[in-house]
Amino acid sequence: MKICQSCAMPITDDNLLGTNKDGSINQDYCKYCYTNGKFIYDVGVEEFIDMCSQFGEQAGMTNEQMKEYCTKIFPTLKRWKK
Ligand SMILES: [Zn+2]
Repeated sequence: MKICQSCAMPITDDNLLGTNKDGSINQDYCKYCYTNGKFIYDVGVEEFIDMCSQFGEQAGMTNEQMKEYCTKIFPTLKRWKK
């Protein structure tokens, strides 16, 4: 399954993909993270984990579980990998 390489959201539909500067589809990031060739939230990984942890319910878990999940998976994603 394809996931956003910034926030790990499952990308189930090409409509969820972000766009490059020239308006073409970006295959790595979702539209909630990346649009017109730019990241919408220009933050560090820890801040981003905190932000995403607020949306546990939407992912079917508690915010605490969400934070644990994000902490584990984000460093493996293209945006955050060093
Ligand atoms: Zn994303």
